[in-house]
Amino acid sequence: MKIKICPECESPDIILYIPQIGSYKCRNCGYIGTFVLTKDIDVKENDKSKKRNKKLEKSL
Ligand SMILES: [Zn+2]
Repeated sequence: MKIKICPECESPDIILYIPQIGSYKCRNCGYIGTFVLTKDIDVKENDKSKKRNKKLEKSL
């Protein structure tokens, strides 16, 4: 899975600031811009949570 990270401080704490123009804002250093970096992360934890969610749906 790829996540977006800040090009200034490489923090993953980055949010879509102005969706209309694809501008992002870093909540760590305050960077604002359309240019962001992407980084591959381990998806094992996400797979576990998906399975957990399915079990919850069945039990409800
Ligand atoms: Zn930053």
